[in-house]
Amino acid sequence: MNFCSNCGAPANKELPYKCSQCHTEFWRNPRCCAGALVLDKNKVLMVKRLIAPWDGFWDIPGGYCEWNEHPKDCAIREVFEETGIKVKLKEYHGIWMEPTDHSDYGENVCVYYTAEPMGDFFALPDGIEIGQVKWFDINHLPEKIAFPSHIPDVLKRLSDELNPSN
Ligand SMILES: [Zn+2]
Repeated sequence: MNFCSNCGAPANKELPYKCSQCHTEFWRNPRCCAGALVLDKNKVLMVKRLIAPWDGFWDIPGGYCEWNEHPKDCAIREVFEETGIKVKLKEYHGIWMEPTDHSDYGENVCVYYTAEPMGDFFALPDGIEIGQVKWFDINHLPEKIAFPSHIPDVLKRLSDELNPSN
């Protein structure tokens, strides 16, 4: 922001910021994301991104929560939108932070659940954000993983849970 939206005084570009004239505070808040580790025995469902960032890399299906949406509902919705598969969530898996270069927002708070497909399922990538949907054995994951600052760790925890003897 170049000017305070409350009083019009010149302002810092960087958030968070407190106006020196009227003392209004402008926050830089995190955004909430949710995703699901959809499991079929030892295989996990992954999606190949068509859009930046990390286009061409494999990701866990998920995305941003709507303004009033519980992360559980977001995870179910995003999996369906990206893969065409309806899922039932099983367990809370964890929360990871993902840095962002968007200066109006803080980091992304990414909530993950494990899930299972409901009924008969047939993966159908959405074709716009997702080019390919594939089941990977948890012990043979693809090399090109999106969001390397946290996704490998999400999968590592899953692998540890599925292979308790390792
Ligand atoms: Zn002001």
